[in-house]
Amino acid sequence: MPTGLDKTLDFEQGPIRPPSEARSLLLRFSRNCPWNKCKFCPVYKGSRFSRRGLDEIKADIDAAAEMARQIDQLSWRMGHGGRMTDEVVNAVFGDPGIGDAFRNVAAWLYYGTGNVFLQDANNLIIEPETLAQALRYLRQRLPQVKRVTTYARSSSAARRSVEELRMLNDAGLDRIHVGMESGCDQVLAFMKKGVSQAQQIQAGRNIKQAGIELSEYVMPGLGGKKWTTQHAIDTAHALNQINPDFIRLRSLRVPGRVELHDDLAQGRFEKLSEDEMAAEIRLFISELDGIDSTVTSDHIMNLIETVSGRLPQDKGLMLAKLDDYLALPPRQRLIYRLCRRMGRCREPEDIDRLGLRPQLEAILADVEQRGDPDQILSDMADGFI
Ligand code: SF4
Repeated sequence: MPTGLDKTLDFEQGPIRPPSEARSLLLRFSRNCPWNKCKFCPVYKGSRFSRRGLDEIKADIDAAAEMARQIDQLSWRMGHGGRMTDEVVNAVFGDPGIGDAFRNVAAWLYYGTGNVFLQDANNLIIEPETLAQALRYLRQRLPQVKRVTTYARSSSAARRSVEELRMLNDAGLDRIHVGMESGCDQVLAFMKKGVSQAQQIQAGRNIKQAGIELSEYVMPGLGGKKWTTQHAIDTAHALNQINPDFIRLRSLRVPGRVELHDDLAQGRFEKLSEDEMAAEIRLFISELDGIDSTVTSDHIMNLIETVSGRLPQDKGLMLAKLDDYLALPPRQRLIYRLCRRMGRCREPEDIDRLGLRPQLEAILADVEQRGDPDQILSDMADGFI
């Protein structure tokens, strides 16, 4: 049956979203990153930042709303009464020539989260009144929207007053994801993050004070061997002064296309091993104090996904998971890393729970034939980017 969807409808989308926004509608309010200098970041390299006008943003919102309307009509025509069933979504996805934006709207309606993520890297750079107007328009045109989140840089959030941020919250902005990465000034300077610990703290406090939920991304390993201790301690202490709603771990990986890779090759930066990174995360979590944030480790690049929980009550459990991993004999740690990099495990207990040990032993023996397993597994992890 023809879907009757208007395939000329389209709106712009950017390259990434946080893992927690996998079921969100993605709308692009600005393009790329206005800073684009962080040594470890491959995302927007070679792409220029540009602002999008309010009319352009509104036209995209209109297109998304029209797509939602057409998908709803399709559901009725298929006899599903406006419900987003598997059949309806499959009809949209299976329609030849349907674009990614249409698919995103269909998936968004199917999951029914009502969540919208505003791309790209720093929408707080948009003049607050303009951003507020865009947010109000979004809420008006898409009444299904329940939560709106965006990425922002600390440098911009620190410049916005609490009143401006509160206006954005009133206009419908619920949560901001900040790529803090580190609270250690030496690490921030070496990585060309363009922000200081003091600005990170100011930014986080402004956002929280305005009533907006705050999700802070931390990058274990970013201090390398030189600053590992300072990176863990200073980052935890900065977060202790912010008390964000979420602390999300996203471990450092160094693909060939980032500037940090040159530092690595020239010996100016020494990467932590996976085990050193686990020990660094342990120190970091042990230093978190006096806050009630939720820690998550939901990124594929992290070694142990289940190091997560609410502070302070789950701190002991999180530390125990890391201690258990670090107490494994070296070969068992390699087996777990292999399992993780194959995407089969979330934590070491999964190996026996899923009966994977004999298979992993055989694969590891094969890996050992090919070279240094530590290096091969490390390359596998970098390959996720
Ligand atoms: S601010 Fe964020 S998006 Fe921009 S270069 Fe740095 S890490 Fe990448």
